[in-house]
Amino acid sequence: MRPRLDRVLNRIDLRGSRRDPRGLLPRAQLDVSVAVEKIRPVVEAVREHGFSAIRDATARFDGVELERLRVPAEAIAAAAEALDPAVRAALVEAIERARKVHGDQRRRDVTTQVVPGGTVTERWVPVRRVGLYVPGGLAVYPSTVVMNVVPAQVAGVESLVVASPPQSSDGLPDPAILAACHLLGVTEVYAVGGAQAVAMLGYGSDGADEADRCEPVDVITGPGNIWVTAAKRMLRGTVGIDAEAGPTEIAILADDTADPVHVAADLISQAEHDPLAASVLVTPSVALADAVDVELGKRAPATKHAERVHTALTGEQSGVVLVDDVEHGLQVVDAYAAEHLEIQTADARDVAMRVRNAGAIFVGAYAPVSLGDYCAGSNHVLPTGGCARHSSGLSVQSFLRGIHVVDYDAAALREVAGHVVALANAEDLPAHGEAVTARFGS
Ligand code: NAD
Repeated sequence: MRPRLDRVLNRIDLRGSRRDPRGLLPRAQLDVSVAVEKIRPVVEAVREHGFSAIRDATARFDGVELERLRVPAEAIAAAAEALDPAVRAALVEAIERARKVHGDQRRRDVTTQVVPGGTVTERWVPVRRVGLYVPGGLAVYPSTVVMNVVPAQVAGVESLVVASPPQSSDGLPDPAILAACHLLGVTEVYAVGGAQAVAMLGYGSDGADEADRCEPVDVITGPGNIWVTAAKRMLRGTVGIDAEAGPTEIAILADDTADPVHVAADLISQAEHDPLAASVLVTPSVALADAVDVELGKRAPATKHAERVHTALTGEQSGVVLVDDVEHGLQVVDAYAAEHLEIQTADARDVAMRVRNAGAIFVGAYAPVSLGDYCAGSNHVLPTGGCARHSSGLSVQSFLRGIHVVDYDAAALREVAGHVVALANAEDLPAHGEAVTARFGS
């Protein structure tokens, strides 16, 4: 039976309060550090035992008896062959738009002439090998293949591998995920999910057969559930990791010019991802909040994943935050730092340009988050849990390192030698100064 929703969203009334809203806002008490302790034995077993540990974890968490890690080339080609033409056309369009946007993010090397004979060049060099995690538990995400692979390819990454959970039907990742890999020219795909996939990518796997082996990568990117996020946190340092992209979030800053049907539909669309997903409305309009509640009460029970949506919308991480005005709302959304932020107010573009903290911002009535999930051209792998205060979503930059190349001739070094010696002595590191003066015979 579909759950019935009366008053759907919790209300938090911040009107008249100018206190720092952090701590007052709805947010899941997701403790990634607790999850880290739970998956630590899985990650350590994969590091020590490779394929056999991955197989054990897959049996336990995915209910699949894994015969081999690597998805055979024929299975990838067959999935592409069988792909629904409408889905193929949509993926091709999504790839084209993502390539357009990410193509403009390429970095050029920059050389700065500091003094005559002295230059510093910042060289942007792609990482060599990247592991892309594509979720496949509650929902399957061929669109995430696009969002991970396109920026990596644009950056010039030489070796790209995808890992995604095996489905119980055939022990392979979802066919639409395999087809998306095929469309993007990715041939190295592993049927592994969860923490064991992240550990495999980070430490490699040394099974007896080639199909059971995976060479370790330099960087792991991609979203996932709390177990995936916890494993990425554990592997940080062994490999590079993008921002923590956990259970999804939408915040909507809306005033009484917003259409409650749009607002309700967008809140539900993110709640559909995960029972832990967060849907937050920030508004100065009680009338809008009431109308959205009525709309949610109608739409949420009728949607396909009604149970999951109900759990997400009524969870502690979701709610309506009442504010004094849009100005106050801006302070609240900055404090919340949503993964996805919609602005549905008068002058939405101006308001959007004043936001400081968000993973991505969607402006006005015709830019719903679902557009960005698939076909806007923007990236949908975005920081969650407030990480948008310090991190960006996935981009070409995520796969590049800026290397400074310092090139000084004798005259340029001589000119600054006295300053280097003075600073070296001030730090009580005289050998640093001597490394300069030794070149000039003193
Ligand atoms: P998933 O692939 O992240 O996780 C599935 C894996 O979790 C399984 O393969 C299994 O091995 C492992 N697992 C399941 N239960 C476990 C347990 N009790 N202990 C240890 N491991 C366990 O897929 P999902 O579960 O559907 O989650 C996908 C998440 O990614 C959602 O929360 C969604 O919101 C999020 N997402 C985020 C973004 C973003 O950019 N932030 C984009 C897309 C999806």
